[in-house]
Amino acid sequence: MHEINFIVIIVFSVIVGSFLNVIIYRTPIVLHRRWQTTNTENDHHPFTSLLSRSCCPHCHRVIAWWHNVPLLSYIWLKGLCAYCHDPISWRYPLVEICAGLIAVTAYIFFPLDISLVGVLAAGWILLALAAIDLRDGLLPDELTMPLLWLGLALNATHLYTTPDMAILGAMGGYGVLWLCAIAFRFITKKDGIGAGDLKLCAAIGAWVGLPAVPAVILIFSWMGLVYGILYLLLTRQNKNTPFPLGPWIALAGWIVVLGKDNIMHWLNING
Ligand SMILES: [Zn+2]
Repeated sequence: MHEINFIVIIVFSVIVGSFLNVIIYRTPIVLHRRWQTTNTENDHHPFTSLLSRSCCPHCHRVIAWWHNVPLLSYIWLKGLCAYCHDPISWRYPLVEICAGLIAVTAYIFFPLDISLVGVLAAGWILLALAAIDLRDGLLPDELTMPLLWLGLALNATHLYTTPDMAILGAMGGYGVLWLCAIAFRFITKKDGIGAGDLKLCAAIGAWVGLPAVPAVILIFSWMGLVYGILYLLLTRQNKNTPFPLGPWIALAGWIVVLGKDNIMHWLNING
């Protein structure tokens, strides 16, 4: 019985992953359209809304549902469009695999009840945010705000932490990162941490509660630092090249959402 639940949850999460691909691909385009409503000459994207059918970004033909089965169609079509044989981005199957991994890790750490459903929703939103920030350097309010409200609403019922710790966690997440942003600007004379990063940190704070906020900040700064150094060494870019922080905040948030108690015990933070 447990195996069946496990498999159903993974398959469902991979299917959600393929919908996340639509959100990841279309949200920045929709936002850019909204920001520059007068400049539509360069807008060749064929879809009209987030809900219109998927089509190939190259030949613009609508993708049949049997060519749109998560992961399987990518393997079956050998990563090429069924009509024009243009390569399909490896990002699509990667997001679906990550959605599957979110389900596996959530299933390990949470019992089969509303708490599992809640963290799955958080994981999917974090995945979409990380992917959009990597691709377009954006953390849309359309995703960070629902993540914040959902965390506060679920914790109003004491699901992952107490309501007061959730509210203080959101304020603490925003506030601590805001102080980091000011310190960063003071030292480097550059903006390194954006408003989207602050809102994402607030949203994660609402899920994990105030005592776990330092763990989120500690983990993402270490991961971001290691990535930043490797990135500079491997790509030989100069040290002023910006790189998105959102994916690291999202990943650190996911790690703390899953293993909050163990991590706090480890870091000796009392909560
Ligand atoms: Zn095509």
